[in-house]
Amino acid sequence: MLCLSLGAFAWLVSGCASRPARPPAGDAAAGRRPAWPPPSLPATIKVRVSAPGGPRVLTLPVDEYVLGAVRAEVLPSTLRAEPASRALDVQAIVSRTYAAANLGRHAADGYDLCDTTHCQVYRPAAAGEGPADAAARAVRATRGRVLTFEGRVIQALFHADCGGRTAAAVSVWGGTDASYLDSVEDVFCARRPASSWSFDAEESGMRRALNADARTRIGDRFRRVEIASRDSAGRALSVTLVGSKTISVRAEVFRAVMTQAFGPRSIRSTWFEVVRDGTRLRFSGLGFGHGVGLCQHGTLRRVEARQTPAEILAHYFPGTRLQTVPTEPVRPDFAPRPVAPGQ
Ligand SMILES: [Zn+2]
Ligand SMILES: [Zn+2]
Repeated sequence: MLCLSLGAFAWLVSGCASRPARPPAGDAAAGRRPAWPPPSLPATIKVRVSAPGGPRVLTLPVDEYVLGAVRAEVLPSTLRAEPASRALDVQAIVSRTYAAANLGRHAADGYDLCDTTHCQVYRPAAAGEGPADAAARAVRATRGRVLTFEGRVIQALFHADCGGRTAAAVSVWGGTDASYLDSVEDVFCARRPASSWSFDAEESGMRRALNADARTRIGDRFRRVEIASRDSAGRALSVTLVGSKTISVRAEVFRAVMTQAFGPRSIRSTWFEVVRDGTRLRFSGLGFGHGVGLCQHGTLRRVEARQTPAEILAHYFPGTRLQTVPTEPVRPDFAPRPVAPGQ
């Protein structure tokens, strides 16, 4: 599933993977307990993949899964281009960390992760891709490397373009005190015309889109959208939808409902203004994606500026540690692991 069309930064393909179904719980709180056992990587991961004839569950060695997750973020044609290939090291660490933290997310269905943006986008190798390409090199070069906070693998969320400042997870989804998912400045994305977007919607289309989801059902009449609150950077936190009924929702819920109806390039972020022009609403904003965690565009610019993967990750996930952890023995059968509290 592609959720970002390609502009000048064509190495980004999905760009909005890894949004948690529920807010990431606070590792700060979890970390007050002894972090035992120490973090490790599973030998294999069970992934449900879409396939002709219906979905299948694949059991993959952990780094084969990570490679597919990295490839899902990259266009095959850009794999040999510098500096994009060097940015893949960062993506490999983030994708591996995300997988380790979310193992067993679909345990009730008999697998660990799905291959969509619900978990993390994964795709198998395409023609011409193989062990010699840049994605495979990046996965090998970062083998065993994950980000931890107080002894636990972190919720390594990422997005395409922060627009100049990342968003705190707590302001987007609530319910977390994970300090490493706080808002940080990103000078590499600030004041960049390509970060800007706009989207026009007719009142009638807005009404249909909002009524298609139970969380935003406003009834027969649509009147307006108001930004009820913003974070310190200017991202909308909550919006009020005024129609036959008046409803307040988190801005990220509004974005999800709008992108479901109009596609991922409609309301690209929650950092937006809205003005009315007759029966039309014009949304104009900055950035692409939920804005939490690692910014892929900023990562690319930082690689160009000769920052190391460790420096880049320390910027976007403050207070975390980049460490190499062991891989567990092969699991004989799938036995869903209890998801550790706080992960
Ligand atoms: Zn999933
Ligand atoms: Zn950025």
